[in-house]
Amino acid sequence: DDAGVPGRVRVAVRLRPRNAEESVADADFADCVELQPELKRLKLRKNNWDTDTYEFDEVLTEFASQKRVYEVVAKPVVESVLDGYNGTVMAYGQTGTGKTYTLGRLGEEDTAARGIMVRALEDILAEISPETDSVSVSYLQLYMETIQDLLDPTNDNISIMEDPKTGDVSLPGATLVEIRDQRSFVELLRLGEAHRFAANTKLNTESSRSHAMLMVHVKRSVKGRDSVLLSENCNSSHMVKTFKPPVVRKGKLVVVDLAGSERIDKSGSEGHTLEEAKSINLSLSALGKCINALAENSAHVPVRDSKLTRLLRDSFGGTARTSLVVTIGPSPRHRGETSSTIMFGQRAM
Ligand code: ADP
Ligand code: MG
Repeated sequence: DDAGVPGRVRVAVRLRPRNAEESVADADFADCVELQPELKRLKLRKNNWDTDTYEFDEVLTEFASQKRVYEVVAKPVVESVLDGYNGTVMAYGQTGTGKTYTLGRLGEEDTAARGIMVRALEDILAEISPETDSVSVSYLQLYMETIQDLLDPTNDNISIMEDPKTGDVSLPGATLVEIRDQRSFVELLRLGEAHRFAANTKLNTESSRSHAMLMVHVKRSVKGRDSVLLSENCNSSHMVKTFKPPVVRKGKLVVVDLAGSERIDKSGSEGHTLEEAKSINLSLSALGKCINALAENSAHVPVRDSKLTRLLRDSFGGTARTSLVVTIGPSPRHRGETSSTIMFGQRAM
């Protein structure tokens, strides 16, 4: 099993169950897809007698639990972040197919419902030692090529810094909050959601038209063997020679709830709709090009084409692990969107 192999994107597909409306309105029609999870295959209906078959790294049916989805999609990435590597978990799909359900559910009343963000933090907090290690998070929205701080609504135009030597990406202007326990993390996510809603109301837009990104910085210090001795006998110059400084391991996990992949009506009835459509197409197609380049082992990954891919530059490719979950719905009415979502996932593999 190549779970979490660096450089290659792992792609899972997740089907959400029919909702109440689809159960009634489409009662006489079959789902547009049929899943064969044990074969890791998905069949997409072309017409009444023909289907196309696709293979994925993992096929998650409407019965897959949130726990299982976390284990398949995110856990290998979280583990490598704890080892000091960077990693990305992304959800791509049409609005209403379960991206936020998969990544962002808080599950406060029902712990089984918790999504990937909350489960990732739980695993990270369980693994680190509070005296020597730290976990800090930023929470951002990327809308029309502008980065907004979801933890500080006044901070609405954050710039990206790239270290020319290391290629490391940082956001010096973004609020970074140290997290000590699960409850304060959930509280922070909730605050971020509220700020996102307020910002989008002000901009007269919907959250499906922007990307939400959680960045989790994990810093761990692995003690050098002689450093304990040094702290007990610190006036001996002889000791300094044998002192092994603690090794600091830094990993960054980025969780991205992408903008809806559906084609937006370009009629422009709301004035800024066309601009939004262009901006979403730009970032999602730039992302698609980058993950295709990774899939093809290409030496050139075109990260510079959008803010989204510039932000992810140090989080995919190289030693980083990348996991993509494409979310789809069962409705035959959305067969076209479902097909293009599946193709996006296929090109990443
Ligand atoms: P998106 O973020 O892709 O627009 P949401 O996550 O908001 O979609 O999901 C749309 C609706 O479908 C929500 O009401 C959500 O609770 C429901 N839903 C999504 N995925 C599932 C699932 N796997 N099981 C049950 N309900 C789901
Ligand atoms: Mg959503």
